[in-house]
Amino acid sequence: MEALENVQLFCPYCGESIEILVDRSEGDQDWIEDCSVCCRPMELSVTGTHTGELHVQAHQEND
Ligand SMILES: [Zn+2]
Repeated sequence: MEALENVQLFCPYCGESIEILVDRSEGDQDWIEDCSVCCRPMELSVTGTHTGELHVQAHQEND
């Protein structure tokens, strides 16, 4: 099973669709990543569901 998974989400600042690469072997995680479109830092949180799907949320860093 591939540990790296592409996840598509929307930037909380500019609303553009972006793709991030998530390492599933790391489990649940939070990190800061700059939007590739507007370059503002967004806080990403990844959780795995019991069905094996990834649930990714993007927040503005200063929320
Ligand atoms: Zn953006």
